[in-house]
Amino acid sequence: MITRERAIEALQAERFDLVVIGGGITGAGVALDAASRGYSVALVEKADFASGTSSRSSKLVHGGLRYLQNFDLGLVREALLERQLMVKLAPHLVTPLQMVVAAFEGARPDRIMGIGLNMYDVMATPALRGRRSARRAVQLAHRSQRVNGDEPEPESDWSPARHRMISGAEVVELLPALTEREPTGGYLFYDCQTDDSRLVLTVLGEAERFGAICANRLEVKELLGGRGEGSGVKVIDAETGEQFPVRGANVINATGVWADRIRPEELHSEAEVPKIAPSRGTHVTVAYSDLPLKAGAIVPAGEGRSIFALPWLGRSLLGTTDNNYSGDIDHVCPSPEDIEYLLDATNKFFGTELGTDALTGAYAGVRPLISSGDTRKSVDISRKAELYETSSGLITITGGKLTTWRRMAKLAVDRLVERDGRDAPCRTHDIPLGQPIDVDRLPRIDGVPEDSYEALAARYGHAAEQVLAVAGEDPELASPIVAGHPDLLAEAAFSARYEQARSVGDVLLRRTRLGLLAAPELRAPGGVAPARVARATGRELGWDAARVDAEVERFDREAQAEGIPVR
Ligand SMILES: Cc1cc2nc3c(=O)[nH]c(=O)nc-3n(C[C@H](O)[C@H](O)[C@H](O)COP(=O)(O)OP(=O)(O)OC[C@H]3O[C@@H](n4cnc5c(N)ncnc54)[C@H](O)[C@@H]3O)c2cc1C
Repeated sequence: MITRERAIEALQAERFDLVVIGGGITGAGVALDAASRGYSVALVEKADFASGTSSRSSKLVHGGLRYLQNFDLGLVREALLERQLMVKLAPHLVTPLQMVVAAFEGARPDRIMGIGLNMYDVMATPALRGRRSARRAVQLAHRSQRVNGDEPEPESDWSPARHRMISGAEVVELLPALTEREPTGGYLFYDCQTDDSRLVLTVLGEAERFGAICANRLEVKELLGGRGEGSGVKVIDAETGEQFPVRGANVINATGVWADRIRPEELHSEAEVPKIAPSRGTHVTVAYSDLPLKAGAIVPAGEGRSIFALPWLGRSLLGTTDNNYSGDIDHVCPSPEDIEYLLDATNKFFGTELGTDALTGAYAGVRPLISSGDTRKSVDISRKAELYETSSGLITITGGKLTTWRRMAKLAVDRLVERDGRDAPCRTHDIPLGQPIDVDRLPRIDGVPEDSYEALAARYGHAAEQVLAVAGEDPELASPIVAGHPDLLAEAAFSARYEQARSVGDVLLRRTRLGLLAAPELRAPGGVAPARVARATGRELGWDAARVDAEVERFDREAQAEGIPVR
């Protein structure tokens, strides 16, 4: 990406066809979609890119088996098609994941689950849709689909195998953590997994390739005018306090859970803007050695609910909770009750005794669920995306899922195109997201541990070559940020230079994911990692020694506000 300074210069000097508010996955998707259809696009993010919900998900690119229970067939099918497309467009970043539903004491795996998995297969696999029963399921799905896909179905090298029953021995092989409980069988099915904040950064990078100008730490304070000459937004720069207009003929509000806070002065009716009902979801991570998983597991959590236990970046990720939330949405903390709930369910299922001293990380996020005014629990509210338009022209797109970002973006930009009477079809189903690279082709740099190459290739694709070039500039940059983890100090310098990282938290929470995976090391008294990151970032951004110290302290405050655990 271009530097923040250059982006701000361009934002102040130019007038754009479209200003996008919000740098989560939805805003990034809107910027890519609009820019690739020929619009000039500005995107402004009030904090860091992906610092909202888009760095706090379960990291699944999935149809969502659970939504079948609510007969949200359209949503499931749409998400399954997107899942397949994402593996094709970003094969390094969105990867297939085996998922297991285990059974014990000779019991048949749950039949209702089997029926759900059958529907899941049918909706996901074009070849299976020829059959009559399958056709019926797909017709139903089409009928309830709100976001119409007028695109060809994705063709991908990856097509998930059908779910199947597996033996107890196979369950143990995939979920070694269950060894003691001696499972007797189970179901195996497939979903996909990603690194959510890296997906956002990758989509933003592609948007920039099509000419979009994106900058973080610019908060929209006011909407300017309607759709005429003076239209656009007024932003405040969080680093300098300066306020300035970003001029744009159209504005799309993609601020997720903040979406109902952006309102034009005049509204004809409240139905022109969404009303958000935030729901908090907490996750924790533990060491692989404490809960060894090679595949994901569906873990019963009581009252018909379940959580996931997933292998992720060398750790085991447990989540999520799903409860109505009315607290501060700028810093969402995992609550002690939520953590206890996750550990209880995990311990009961795996027969472990994990306590809070086993945590290697914890985080929480809020879902941008749309309130329909009913009193249903948040788990039962649909994850469908909704589009709103005010009489003054502001388009808001919110709700949805990480998985369906591309469809959400298309929905919003289609509306813009229709309004403008342009002939500009969506192209994002054909735009690769980054470029995969063969690990063996990466140049070897002295001091870089062997397992870092694979991690870099998965995170950056081809751009891993650039990260390694930075690592080659100084032996210290070639070393890991935290011993035993593959993330290199070079990534701090790289992300400050090329990804608008502006703080230690940006590097540790969203460029690398060490804040979620190595919390005790980062927060230990006298720990050196945050200071090393501050020095490497500061060299790029011109910080003096006092500023480096201040940034380390700032990270500590941020980590505390985010509830990142200390041991
Ligand atoms: C616990 C949990 C687990 C989930 N798991 C999954 C999953 O596994 N798979 C899946 O598909 N989906 C999942 N989701 C849903 C998914 O994460 C969200 O739907 C998605 O990330 C929302 O993205 P967004 O861009 O709309 O919102 P956000 O990511 O929140 O982005 C909105 C951005 O707007 C910015 N902003 C707000 N106000 C302003 C302003 N005035 N000016 C400028 N910028 C502003 C914010 O700082 C923020 O960065 C999960 C959600 C949660 C909470």
